[in-house]
Amino acid sequence: MKRIGVIGGGQLAWMMASAAQELGIELVIQTPHDTDVAVSLATEIVLADVDDVAATAILATKCDAITFENEFVDLEGLDKLAIAQNVSFLPPLTALAPLLDKYTQRCYLRDLGLPVPQFAVLEQPELPPGFEFPVVIKARRNGYDGQGTFIVKDASVLAALYHRYPDTPFLIEEFVKFDRELAVIAARGVNGEVITYPILETQQEDQVCRRVFTLDDLPTEIVATCNSIASKLLTSLGAVGVFGIELFLTADGKVSVNEIAPRTHNSGHLTIEACATSQFSQLIRAVAGLPFGSTALTCGGAVMVNLLGYEDTHSDYPDKRQQLAAIPNAHVHWYAKESRIGRKLGHVTIVVGRDDEHQDYLSQAQSLARQVETIWYP
Ligand code: ADP
Repeated sequence: MKRIGVIGGGQLAWMMASAAQELGIELVIQTPHDTDVAVSLATEIVLADVDDVAATAILATKCDAITFENEFVDLEGLDKLAIAQNVSFLPPLTALAPLLDKYTQRCYLRDLGLPVPQFAVLEQPELPPGFEFPVVIKARRNGYDGQGTFIVKDASVLAALYHRYPDTPFLIEEFVKFDRELAVIAARGVNGEVITYPILETQQEDQVCRRVFTLDDLPTEIVATCNSIASKLLTSLGAVGVFGIELFLTADGKVSVNEIAPRTHNSGHLTIEACATSQFSQLIRAVAGLPFGSTALTCGGAVMVNLLGYEDTHSDYPDKRQQLAAIPNAHVHWYAKESRIGRKLGHVTIVVGRDDEHQDYLSQAQSLARQVETIWYP
């Protein structure tokens, strides 16, 4: 395979493009703005919104298969296109279908026998039977980075939310009193092989991912549970590509699935520097039918910190980026986006050497994360 089409041209497509170049594969990208970061690395661009099916029909004529950096697509339209033009979407559209709506995704996971928090459709401005406050209310579609997710502590807030968004279908969930949030990045090839990366810990603030750590203290049975969830899920979906699976871990060792994203994932960014093969390279390999590379860590551990916008500005923060890059073993990835509050503008990964393994890895990684955040946030 020579050319892969990508729907979406943001930072994920940009990191895919670097990986594709190393494998000698060209990317053609469908994205709405010629300033989007992946444009500079693409062989060709189709300038259109990600849900513009007519544009995807053009994209299909320029490549051998199409993958996604963004799942907010018009699935029905793509289904028709797949049949009419015999387009190969990888992951297949049937693997995306149950996942794009958070309610149908939850039903899919439950029906597969995977552990999920208690959930229901929110049909009226009050707590359904069997739920207790606090609860989590989520827009069923198109939520990301905590947009559309609300932790609700009482009836008045629940009613206000329901009335504020009269046209938004919501899911209601029990609030999981988790001890840690984990993530598994997993990939499945056309031959059905499933590979997983070392389990990661993610830390969210206000429902947005702030930091990701590799782990060295996770009990083996929890690692096995996470990997078996990933394997069961990707196999059942008939997935081809890379999927990010977010999990809750409670203090008594129970794992449940929060969410699955049918694409490369923010929690896997540190695989670029910390693992033998990045999640982006594995995606390109899966789509191109190439063998997977090793997912093993090549360092003692690593931490990734998201650089979130804290103001609206055109500045691209050259001084701060220089200071961040001066941290030993730090790798700064800058997405060249205009800064808006809460927007992911870049990330920094810091690898911890094998020589440092005798130290307490997690406290070392946490202090590195603090160092990054002290430089970045005013
Ligand atoms: P998004 O799709 O916008 O990333 P998520 O559903 O992943 O939204 O939720 C974002 C974060 O909100 C989670 O990482 C977690 O910290 C918190 N959260 C979501 N669902 C629950 C829940 N049921 N219980 C407790 N916290 C939750």
